Amino acid sequence: MNRRQWMALPWVAAALGRSSAQEPAASPQLPSGVPVEEPDNVLLKDYYPKSIYKIPQSAIPKARYPAIDVHCHGFRPPQSVEEAVKFMDAAGIEKSVIFTGASTPERFNEVKAPYAGHAGRFDLWCGFDFTGADQPGFPSNAVKALEECHRAGAVGIGELSDKGRGFGARGGGRGGRRGAGDRGGADRGGAAPSNAETIGPHPDDPRMDPLWQKCSQLGMPVNVHVSDPIWSYQKLDNTNDGLMNGYTWRIDVKPNMYGHDQLIESLERAAGKHPKTVFIACHFMNLDYDLTRLGGILDRNPNLYVDVSARFAETATIPKFVAQFFQKHQKRICYGTDMPYNARMFATTFRILESNDEHFYERDQYFNYNYHWPLNGFGLPAPVLKDVYHDNALRAFQQARKNAT
Ligand SMILES: [Zn+2]
Repeated sequence: MNRRQWMALPWVAAALGRSSAQEPAASPQLPSGVPVEEPDNVLLKDYYPKSIYKIPQSAIPKARYPAIDVHCHGFRPPQSVEEAVKFMDAAGIEKSVIFTGASTPERFNEVKAPYAGHAGRFDLWCGFDFTGADQPGFPSNAVKALEECHRAGAVGIGELSDKGRGFGARGGGRGGRRGAGDRGGADRGGAAPSNAETIGPHPDDPRMDPLWQKCSQLGMPVNVHVSDPIWSYQKLDNTNDGLMNGYTWRIDVKPNMYGHDQLIESLERAAGKHPKTVFIACHFMNLDYDLTRLGGILDRNPNLYVDVSARFAETATIPKFVAQFFQKHQKRICYGTDMPYNARMFATTFRILESNDEHFYERDQYFNYNYHWPLNGFGLPAPVLKDVYHDNALRAFQQARKNAT
């Protein structure tokens, strides 16, 4: 009999001054409404621990340095651009890169309108038009559309997404991933969702070369999403450390798909083949679990940067090692959110980057993604914060513009 079963015995309850005859207090409920009869029945998805440690808890509503958010998918009703700017002002966000998802000049002109009144606060990025990517003649139309989007004001491309079936791929249901939303917004490059499965070009596919070249000629950096959190590829059993999120975003790699390692290698080959094109691999290139490997890729490719967006939960579990990684690759890591704008979201990202707080939980669904891990601060020093918040993004943008011909 374990301690809990012993505690449930009526005479023990009585001894502990809880008379079993008493009106049973309303039994605590699980978030799912299921009464907590037996803690043994608590499912991991319903496990909502609260830290009770009497330790420092930092409230950091504003970034230590003016920040550039290099990863934002724009604002949807009911949130307006005006409201978003208020959150940006309060949090010290100087500028945000907006992935408009537009891959044609017509669409781009539509999407850019609400940002017109906020000069200097937003950089609008477009997508690639992957229509007919499997047809002869691709990507000449896509290159033309890119030039027109550039003329219309697009200053970068992203977020391009390849989770195994290539850019602009459609359908494929569970083979790819489940869930309407994307964990890091897929590019909507002309690919209308349908279930007819198509396979698109991977980053180092020769069909992408004219597009990568055009990006460097136009001085446009590119934000690329390859793969997904590693736990999505692992066995989904009780040994999976990131089980609940891994299950939600599970990826079943089918024969015609690229797996995690192939995607990482494909993007590195593209960056190597196009040294004048500036790539930002978002979400730590989904190598948050193997930063040594990521460090090697950054060392070999000076035109490659990473953004930290939507991987705060995955990194705030290993703060010491991550802080060392930030120091070692101080000039190549860009601040990014990939989350809806609100004061709490920003404050939690600042707390993780700046404080030495330990063992705290953030249950916002956009933040913690059902990981059951407590979070910790990296305690990054001022010079690293200045680069990560601001100067690295500027450096990447300037590097791209300097390469323009
Ligand atoms: Zn994203």
